[in-house]
Amino acid sequence: MPDAFSSAPPAGILNVALPSPLRRLFDYLPSATPPACGWQPGLRVRVPFGRREVVGVIVEQAATSALPLTQLRRVSEVLDEAPLPTDWLWLCRFAARYYQHGLGDTLHHALPARLRQGHPMAGRTQRLWHANAGVDETSLARAPRQAALLELLRQHPHGLAARAISAHGFPRDALLGLEKKGLARFEEVTLAAPALQGGNLLATPALPLNREQAVVLAALHEGLERFHPCLLEGVTGSGKTEVYLQLIEAVAAKGRQSLVLVPEIGLTPQTLARFRSRFKVPVLALHSGLSDAERLDVWEAAADGRALIIIGTRSAIFTPLANPGAIIVDEEHDGSYKQQDNLRYHARDLAVARAHHHQIPLLLGSATPSLESLHQALSGSYRHLRLTQRASVHPPAKLELVDLRHQPTQGGLLPITLRTIKATLAAGKQVLVFINRRGFAPTLACHACGWTADCLQCDARMTLHRQPSLLACHHCDSRRALPDACPECGSADLRALGAGTERTEETLQSLFPKTPIYRIDRDSTRRKDSFEQMLKEIHRGEASLLVGTQMLAKGHHLPHVTLVVVINADGGLYAADFRALEHSAQLLEQVAGRAGRAADPGRVLVQTLHPDDPHLGLLAEHGYGALARSLLDERRQAKLPPFCFMALLRVESPREEAATALIQEAAAALREWLANPQSADCFCLGPVPAPMERRQNRYHLHLMLTAERRSQLHAAANWLVQWLDAHREARKVRWSIDIDPQTL
Ligand code: ADP
Ligand code: ZN
Ligand code: ZN
Repeated sequence: MPDAFSSAPPAGILNVALPSPLRRLFDYLPSATPPACGWQPGLRVRVPFGRREVVGVIVEQAATSALPLTQLRRVSEVLDEAPLPTDWLWLCRFAARYYQHGLGDTLHHALPARLRQGHPMAGRTQRLWHANAGVDETSLARAPRQAALLELLRQHPHGLAARAISAHGFPRDALLGLEKKGLARFEEVTLAAPALQGGNLLATPALPLNREQAVVLAALHEGLERFHPCLLEGVTGSGKTEVYLQLIEAVAAKGRQSLVLVPEIGLTPQTLARFRSRFKVPVLALHSGLSDAERLDVWEAAADGRALIIIGTRSAIFTPLANPGAIIVDEEHDGSYKQQDNLRYHARDLAVARAHHHQIPLLLGSATPSLESLHQALSGSYRHLRLTQRASVHPPAKLELVDLRHQPTQGGLLPITLRTIKATLAAGKQVLVFINRRGFAPTLACHACGWTADCLQCDARMTLHRQPSLLACHHCDSRRALPDACPECGSADLRALGAGTERTEETLQSLFPKTPIYRIDRDSTRRKDSFEQMLKEIHRGEASLLVGTQMLAKGHHLPHVTLVVVINADGGLYAADFRALEHSAQLLEQVAGRAGRAADPGRVLVQTLHPDDPHLGLLAEHGYGALARSLLDERRQAKLPPFCFMALLRVESPREEAATALIQEAAAALREWLANPQSADCFCLGPVPAPMERRQNRYHLHLMLTAERRSQLHAAANWLVQWLDAHREARKVRWSIDIDPQTL
């Protein structure tokens, strides 16, 4: 840790990070009255910036400035009594450096909105609620919620914070109701870490582990006190979550905090309920449904060490931890951990850096690990832990490939698929039909002249939607009305080609008119709670058809599904992106994992035009693990990640010439710089047009950098960024650098 973070010498010039895309700090003079803690790095301040006032963070002090002192302005206000948490500052600095992003913008991104806007911290006092003893409870006879809440308060003789009470699912009204009846009271207390009540953290007992789980947990116990990165490769339903819960228990028993990251799609009420029902201490969740005030509450509780268990999606990696004990990343391969704009960080990779910094264990779990993590595990950098058996009775179902060629289909479904669906429904079971495309059909075409409905702003076809009826571009979100006739030749013979979820739903509805059908995609779940509602009905277990995109395919426990149908498995087989196959295999394996999770075994029918494809064959025959190992060999031979490091410069502009000119110049300058002997194994590829060159009326071009050593990649990326920062023409286009890009 640099001295600047711990000592506070007399103030000279303050280097302040501001919310600006510029990769530099700004110099200010201290205000007349210094803060009580001194001018420490990490203090939030308000400063004049142009004609506005903005919130910034002091990063360093300097003796001199490049500007004359007379031109420097003064800090207008110090916003906090103490600096922001040092572990958080460390992480932001690391992320800014690693991702070649401005520190000011990184800090801004990582701060809760309320702090970003200059609001004060909520402070360190809190109301703790208690049950009153020896009072008349007859008034609760008809208020079961209040009665249950009173019971909860009685179980916590040391008092419960309002936040913890709402985390248990009680509305504020219930609490106020109890207070009014004289059954509960609060005290104002200064906050401290929660006292461990007799060491018993559990509200419900842990499950007895099976043999494999016990081996895994024992391995984890060995590394509780140090950096101990582990990959837990465990088939779906093998009990990874149970392992997480017992690791968290061990960490919490030492009074330390666990941070659990889950994919965007995975932080469901069911997941939360599972964590919350296990522990007596509150489990704080960070998700998009929180208000800014609630988010700040969680942030502060974590920063103070009051919160022992924090669970959240990607951005939760920026939660400060006073007393870190473990970081767990569930479904570590999931694409939602990578932020695709602005600060393009990967939460899993930051988790690795953070665990190393804190010297704490890191557990990455997945049924379908990323090739990056698998490589680390196979090469011995991470400990490789495995769960090969399902906790329930049945092994995961094998994929059965069915040949789409030379056969008539109905709405994209083969006769054998339809027969199997029919038999499954007749047996009273549920069928999941997976199709990774929403809308009615991906293409609207004229049968007379071949015209297709293309997006006017992108190099892409528009998707035909029927509910409501319109054409929509899934890349730029533009919409337009359906034409009555072909705009080229006037023919009225316009046809929908291919199928999306809406069409599959329609076909199945006509074939199985008496069976309930649930379509689950982004369109059908736009209304709040509609997804939850559908899941509830599905869980009742009536024979039904589920048609869904990956929203349904990932993470959900669907105990009544015994047949999974994949309409078309070919999406990732021959794509340009070298990661497409990995990602599509992960998705297929996850979808397949939905089948037969409970008492009955499952089947997975995978329709394909390429039943002889060796990759698909390997996946079907031996599962994701075997395919992943073979893909790793291919990557090794092709010197692709994880066997090289990669960065991508993206340049875009509404004017094609501007984007092209800049990226060509950047490429030439970079090649010249790379000619130095220190950069011997760093290469520059391109520039090339992006896979979709025109998007939202902007032209996109790429320049790729690869290197065998990370330090070389970073040196080159850093040089490139500085060149662009200094280049006038670069200000006229939009550009960004993506370290470890996940998609091309
Ligand atoms: P994963 O996270 O690997 O998909 P889960 O932890 O969700 O697996 O476990 C799948 C199912 O098996 C859950 O219903 C869970 O309660 C159950 N389960 C997990 N471990 C055990 C165990 N040791 N004994 C009994 N049931 C278990
Ligand atoms: Zn036409
Ligand atoms: Zn478009």
